[in-house]
Amino acid sequence: MSDTHPLGSKLTIQIVIAMFAGLVVGTMIQYLSSDQGFLQTTVVAEFLKTIGTMFISLLKMLMVPVVLVTLVCGTASLTEPSKLGRIGGKTILLYLGTTGIAITLALFFATLFSVGVGVEAPMEAFDPKVGKSISEVFAAMIPSNPVKAMAEGEMLPLIIFAILIGLSITFSGRRGETVRNLFESMNAVVMQLVILVMRIAPIGIFALMAVLAATLGFDKIKSVGEYFLTVVLVLVIHGAVVYPTLLKTLTGLSPMIFFSKMRTAMTFAFTTSSSNATLPVTLRTVEKRLGAGNSTSSFTVPLGATINMDGTAIMQGVATVFIANFYGHDLTIVQLATVALMAVLASIGAAGVPSVGLVLLGTVLAQVGLPIEGIGLIIGVDRLLDMLRTVVNITGDATVTCIVAKSEGDLDIEVFNDPEAGTVDNPEPDDDPRPATG
Ligand code: ASP
Repeated sequence: MSDTHPLGSKLTIQIVIAMFAGLVVGTMIQYLSSDQGFLQTTVVAEFLKTIGTMFISLLKMLMVPVVLVTLVCGTASLTEPSKLGRIGGKTILLYLGTTGIAITLALFFATLFSVGVGVEAPMEAFDPKVGKSISEVFAAMIPSNPVKAMAEGEMLPLIIFAILIGLSITFSGRRGETVRNLFESMNAVVMQLVILVMRIAPIGIFALMAVLAATLGFDKIKSVGEYFLTVVLVLVIHGAVVYPTLLKTLTGLSPMIFFSKMRTAMTFAFTTSSSNATLPVTLRTVEKRLGAGNSTSSFTVPLGATINMDGTAIMQGVATVFIANFYGHDLTIVQLATVALMAVLASIGAAGVPSVGLVLLGTVLAQVGLPIEGIGLIIGVDRLLDMLRTVVNITGDATVTCIVAKSEGDLDIEVFNDPEAGTVDNPEPDDDPRPATG
């Protein structure tokens, strides 16, 4: 057993140090160098940015193999395939329910604080793109070409494909055994790869944070400060009150333990602004650290990265009220309900990638007849909010995973309660990198 530090595992401490060091170095560069100076053009724009991009690419590289392999294994290991329908039903219900709570809180606080009334903010250019319609999302769910879906990192078709392969392995019985073993062995290999990438994460996170601090214009926050703070407040309420309450009441599990184990995944979400890029780490965390079974988590986590975006819905709710007030429109109850419904539905078809929430916001605004250009008001502060809402998005995925796994008897309480279970410093026998002997 490795020694546990009160601040968390060695990796978590390294990541936190890397984050702060990156922020300090970036802030120094912002103050020391003009936009055209050597530090900005070479050190930040060339060197640090490249390292950050390489790190995010490493994570994204893992996304398709991890989802495909774990989900095939998860589905193939179900002794009764009907369980899949039950898990699916509960998961979707919880995802929709939590997003419903999120958007309601957002609309409530934004209306309470009258965000956007009397604001004078500069408008930035925004190129309006409207996301897919719901019927298009459903039609695209079946991959006519699974290789194309994988090449383009499309999550829903990939999920469907993996489930069908997993089910077919089960139905093939003994004849499918070789393929099952192959996927199980590949699962061990990709999980090992996740550990490798997590080990070098401090370098990538340092670079991402330094670039952020060196290029972020804090002055932009002032003009839309009320909007910014309202989004942050609701994100905090949802993340720190709603999720723990649901977890405690529906499972009896300790929210403190949950959060202490989620720290690393939350830092990944914060620094990458992408639920998809964080997916390998989220999945590893819920399985190895929180004890959720593979047959539940391999389904709930990838699905959550795509359809469950509570943080995004919160931003959209507050932003819609802000833009409506800015333009002097009063939203009726029916329009507020439309906003809520659209925000829930819009998140279903969108991938968990940076800034996708803004594109979806265009769909929501168009639905209630507000000018899409209004997004130009808030675009300047979206970078930071994107980081925060991505943390909420993946925390929601993990919360629902624990609830569903517990209800299915698929959560190992001993693993959940063991502070050292599955830390990268303390790999379990499965993760042991030494070649198998004997
Ligand atoms: N970046 C968010 C995510 O990946 C989506 C968004 O709100 O833009 O979860």
